[in-house]
Amino acid sequence: MAAQTQHISCEFFPPKTEVGIRKLLNEVTPALNALGPEFFSVTYGAGGSTRETTLGLVSSIREAGIDVAPHLSFGGDDKNTIANLLQAYQSAGVKRLVALRGDVPSGTGGPAQLIYASELVAFIRERTGDHFHIEVAAYPEIHPEATSYDTDINFLKAKFEAGADSAITQYFFNVESYFYFLDQCADVGINKPIYAGVMPIINFANLIRFSANCGAEIPRWICRRIEAYGDDQESIAKFGVEVVTQLCQTLLDNGAPGIHFYTMNQVEPTRQIYNNLGL
Ligand code: FAD
Repeated sequence: MAAQTQHISCEFFPPKTEVGIRKLLNEVTPALNALGPEFFSVTYGAGGSTRETTLGLVSSIREAGIDVAPHLSFGGDDKNTIANLLQAYQSAGVKRLVALRGDVPSGTGGPAQLIYASELVAFIRERTGDHFHIEVAAYPEIHPEATSYDTDINFLKAKFEAGADSAITQYFFNVESYFYFLDQCADVGINKPIYAGVMPIINFANLIRFSANCGAEIPRWICRRIEAYGDDQESIAKFGVEVVTQLCQTLLDNGAPGIHFYTMNQVEPTRQIYNNLGL
């Protein structure tokens, strides 16, 4: 039923243990790769805290011949450290990056030393020319620190003007917010693809906590429905797949240029949603 040509990508985060890393590389990546996403991406811990693990994972996935995009931010690092990392990614055959400002790691307490994503994009272009396809982050429900809806969109525009090629959104469950956002972006002259970030519902307690931090709204009807299931994880998983499949179907039917799955390093439910969509 869904169109076949859309861009689909899948995101991982670096596991904390060796066992987790082996599972991701040997089980999760091949299983999701069998679905044929355009690329995988691997997140970068706040402040650069996963610099080596992200590089290691990305290199291993590349060695298996799979397209993968590391996420990257300045964090607390200097320009040389980031330039060396870019060099390492080029040597590993990486062609795509997700460039971010990132956040200050929790618990550090010190003053923020964050460098805006637009400055990182400009730095990557200055050091590596057109080598990388650069993705940036976008926020249909607006970044939690943004001073206004319009300024946030103008800062997204600045990321494109600095050299970004496309954007991936923060996840959302209100599909109207995404299409309204696309219209507003078009109005200010943004004409590059803005892929819809989609979060499968896996651990509801974590989802609520994370959504409060990143400014994603979980509609009341979804919360109430899941609360009613109590500890019945099977019903929650089934409901989550239904809701997110419907969200994706609406996105694809209405012309979203593609979907980026925040897989949470799980094969299911991303695979079930893929299959339901007939992708
Ligand atoms: P920016 O685009 O720099 O914007 C940050 C804030 O500053 C916004 O409020 C914006 O309005 C404002 N702003 C931008 N430019 C200016 C300016 N010149 N002057 C004043 N204000 C400005 N976090 C991680 O730590 N690791 C990851 O791997 C990671 N991956 C992500 C992937 C995606 C697809 C998304 C959507 C988010 C991801 N994040 C990740 C979270 C992200 O780092 C945070 O949301 C962070 O707070 C903002 O990053 P950004 O790149 O959007 O920042």
